Amino acid sequence: MKAAETKVFRTALIAMRARLRGDVSAMADVALRKTRSESSGDLSTMPTHIADLDSDGYEQEFTLTLMASDEDTLNHIHSALERIRTKTYGICEECAGVISKKRLEAIPFAALCIRCAEKEENQYPTQPGQPR
Ligand SMILES: [Zn+2]
Repeated sequence: MKAAETKVFRTALIAMRARLRGDVSAMADVALRKTRSESSGDLSTMPTHIADLDSDGYEQEFTLTLMASDEDTLNHIHSALERIRTKTYGICEECAGVISKKRLEAIPFAALCIRCAEKEENQYPTQPGQPR
């Protein structure tokens, strides 16, 4: 992939990471302090239906679940930025084939081409980490 092309994805990944980080800290505020009335500005990044829930217990559980998957996504984004740095971005980590641009546009942090991702899902549904 050309440098000019990776630049677009790099920008998207950095924006994604910034938003996720912002959301994680804003959510942590809500989940841990449970005083959503005083953190007015931060809540603008959250879907309103979460902020509007009446049950604090439910809200806390739900928010912490969201945070866990955000951490996962942040790790994927970090690896993708690392691959851009080492000029291996857009190359499948499994078969060294090219990951289609369409797939990268949908999932900028994809590490596998669609075929390997499907194979992986079918064969190793709980395999931890990523193959190098
Ligand atoms: Zn592949």
